[in-house]
Amino acid sequence: MKNTKELKTWLGDMKLSHPLVIAGPCSAETEEQVLKIAHELKDSDVNYFRAGIWKPRTRPGNFEGVGALGLKWLQRVKEETGMKTCTEVANAAHVKLAIEHDIDLLWIGARSTVSPFIMQEIADALQGTDKIVLVKNPVNPDLALWLGGIERLYTAGVKNLGAIHRGFSTYEKSKYRNIPEWQLAIEFQNKFPDLPLICDPSHITGKRDMVFDVSQTALDLNFDGLMIETHVDPENAWSDAAQQVTPATLIQMMEDLKVRKATETDSNYRESLENLRAQINVVDDQLIELLGRRMKVADKIGALKKEKNVAVLQSRRWNEILGNMILEGESRGLSEEFILRMFKAIHQESINHQEKIIKG
Ligand code: PEP
Ligand code: MN
Repeated sequence: MKNTKELKTWLGDMKLSHPLVIAGPCSAETEEQVLKIAHELKDSDVNYFRAGIWKPRTRPGNFEGVGALGLKWLQRVKEETGMKTCTEVANAAHVKLAIEHDIDLLWIGARSTVSPFIMQEIADALQGTDKIVLVKNPVNPDLALWLGGIERLYTAGVKNLGAIHRGFSTYEKSKYRNIPEWQLAIEFQNKFPDLPLICDPSHITGKRDMVFDVSQTALDLNFDGLMIETHVDPENAWSDAAQQVTPATLIQMMEDLKVRKATETDSNYRESLENLRAQINVVDDQLIELLGRRMKVADKIGALKKEKNVAVLQSRRWNEILGNMILEGESRGLSEEFILRMFKAIHQESINHQEKIIKG
């Protein structure tokens, strides 16, 4: 994608006084449920009403959505409340039906973005559309796959594009349903600063009481909007019951969230920021220097192991290091999750080095 400047214009054209807000239930369940939620949201800051009608479920047997019938309910939402509507599409037939029913914004789910075949099918079906199309990140933390999906749509002439960050699946123990991996979203913003990026804190957290916090983090990181699952009776929702919030909670959240300015021209602020950034740069240089030194020591250990024909991986020693570092980290305000991730990465690099030495 060369000229991505045009990509942010659809959002700019909306001239919003706040981040874009997409809200509504995970799934459309009944016509009554959909309309009730929509009416409770119609006077709020919500820009688009969402409802999933084709639901990708991890295991069969769970509620798989009401299907095309739900499109009529979304049409009624628009007629009765004036809110724009959106839903997830996962194949060419969905795209055709959604467009026929005048859905304003389509999003592509995490389980579709992982498949280049599905993405191509959807891109072909959307050829030249002026609908807004948002691509959720793939389930796995693969930036290229995410960008690849967006590029397929762009190449098919879809100009009103954007992305949704909904977190990534992981085997690691985590307080999130899908870990945010914020650095990946930041990398994404750096690569495509003109592509609107929306955060989906509902699927990141999986828990309603964490949604506010993650939403605030997203705004602090300059995200352009939020997609938040909202239901009149969250506990009894047919899907994703633990993560949905009520319309009243959503409206309160919109009031409490702080929208930070993208930048600030005040010279005192600029000076302090420059100074702190300079300090960070010094510490970062030291970190790299230290990591390099640590790796040199690991190389020496590798040479010793080679001489004595000892296996590279010594689990007991490694668990000892981890235990100590978690304690050390804790005393410096670093979370166990961070220490585990950081030391796993350092350890992997050491193993790679030692492997090279032993094989070399
Ligand atoms: C959803 O938005 O309801 C959904 C299924 O999300 P994801 O594709 O992010 O799992
Ligand atoms: Mn959901």
